Amino acid sequence: MAGETYETDGPRCPYCGFLHTPDEPFYYDEDTTTLECGKCDREFAMRVYTSTSWSCEPLQEASDA
Ligand SMILES: [Zn+2]
Repeated sequence: MAGETYETDGPRCPYCGFLHTPDEPFYYDEDTTTLECGKCDREFAMRVYTSTSWSCEPLQEASDA
């Protein structure tokens, strides 16, 4: 009963349900399209979603003369 999985903690194998720990750079490479399950050794399609944002604030209070 293979189905699509979606996780924010790491890729979950659609075959056996094993949740991979994304501890290698390729887990975050949007060019990565497949992954071999570390538990059942079956290869499955993987799509990487990344989002990056930046937040900035002054180091000190702005001194409006
Ligand atoms: Zn698996």
